[in-house]
Amino acid sequence: MQSFPMLINGELVQGNRSLNVINPATEEVFQQITCADESQFEQAIAAAKGAFAQWQTVDMQTRRDSLNKLADALEAQTGVFAELLTQEQGKPLAESTAEVGFSCAFIRYFAQSELPIETYQDDETSKVELHRKPLGVVAGMVPWNFPLMIGCFKLAPAVLSGNTFILKPPATTPLCVLKLADICQQIFPKGVVNIITDNNDLGHILSAHPDVAKVAFTGSTPTGKKIMSAASGTLKRLTLELGGNDAGIVLPDVDPKKIAPAIFATAFMNCGQVCIALKRLYVHEDIYDDLVHELSELANSAVVGNGLHDGVTFGPIQNKAQFIKVQEYLADAKDNGVIAAGGEVLDGPGFFMRPTIVRDVTDGCKVVDEEPFGPILPVIKYKSIDDAVERANNSVFGLGGSVWSNDFDKAYEVAKRLECGTSWINQHLNFGPTVPFGGAKESGIGVEFAQEGLLEYTQVHVINIAKQTF
Ligand code: NAD
Repeated sequence: MQSFPMLINGELVQGNRSLNVINPATEEVFQQITCADESQFEQAIAAAKGAFAQWQTVDMQTRRDSLNKLADALEAQTGVFAELLTQEQGKPLAESTAEVGFSCAFIRYFAQSELPIETYQDDETSKVELHRKPLGVVAGMVPWNFPLMIGCFKLAPAVLSGNTFILKPPATTPLCVLKLADICQQIFPKGVVNIITDNNDLGHILSAHPDVAKVAFTGSTPTGKKIMSAASGTLKRLTLELGGNDAGIVLPDVDPKKIAPAIFATAFMNCGQVCIALKRLYVHEDIYDDLVHELSELANSAVVGNGLHDGVTFGPIQNKAQFIKVQEYLADAKDNGVIAAGGEVLDGPGFFMRPTIVRDVTDGCKVVDEEPFGPILPVIKYKSIDDAVERANNSVFGLGGSVWSNDFDKAYEVAKRLECGTSWINQHLNFGPTVPFGGAKESGIGVEFAQEGLLEYTQVHVINIAKQTF
């Protein structure tokens, strides 16, 4: 067992409560760590508030240097972080290594970003400038599917723009984020970055606290609603990246054999536990059987097992509660469709389920209308493109969507009609630091990444000068 202290006011500290972290591939308690109680949440908020006065005046270059040092230190320990991530989260080691790389890329992107003063008017009579000021204390709360990367892509824009930051990882995957505490302690002045974990029970303190100016949250829609409600008392700024039930629409002109690997990869990455995974696939009747067949072949060839083992392409579901939830969706799929591949939960230990393709299923059941957040892809037959678009849009979610066709113009026209934050063509799930990302409808509020995402960590401050003297 290692010690995974938290970071509060520049000190590496143990929590006042204990927390077991379970390896989802073995179901064994893999680390026993400590987590914060209410008083330590209060200490972290007070530390961040105390550090803000100074940090907001620190020049941009110093903030940039700090972020670049963080990325360098994280990159230097890629192997250590990747192995730890696979142990706590379950994903195959190659995917964990990629997550560490993405985390560094996000930090470095924000490290070179600018917050220029914009001039709206400058003539003989007046000058109007728009400045971007930090908000104060920002709290970042992240889910268990990509805890390290999501933590990093909230930390970097927050501190670059002069805010101080509290990062709270989820209770089932706290370790990689806590491991950042040691690095951050050496880089940032005390109180600028604080890292605390709970037992999934104290996030409401951050959402409601009068000294927290903004919550940047990624997680489920029900939790997002609770945060919005708790934050209303202080009119906190919010960025909410929430659930999704992304539809993909496949037009009849594609070759099922050629297109299947790309569709499969975007539906089943990280065992389907990705907010912007392809979660409902609408396929034209002319190619339906062939595409189902190709996807099923890929599902049958997946190597399911412990992500640390060579050759494994498919890890476990991350935690027991999610494992049980996914089995409910599997039962619904069996009731309302036909299992074309997979459909089996493997004997334990480990929360393993084979990637599952469901055919002859349609809208109106849980596995199509809701977000399983696991390795199940329902494939739905359609006749007319208008009908497919209508069904794709008939959802409370609106995170992403995709259109697959060799006719780019036609695909573009369909993509424009999707009600979501991102429409992809001939791909899905492609995201990165330079492209704004956000959800429509109940998939969220606000945008992350790129300049638009950075600006969400700032307050508009207009300086309006009359060029007259008295
Ligand atoms: P979750 O909502 O259960 O938990 C996310 C985080 O919120 C955890 O850190 C948890 O401790 C914290 N939390 C729980 N209750 C809280 C409360 N009342 N106040 C404040 N914080 C609280 O989500 P999850 O199960 O960890 O993640 C899966 C969900 O996240 C899926 O719906 C998925 O689609 C979504 N997700 C969305 C995105 C996106 O960018 N839109 C990315 C990843 C995951």
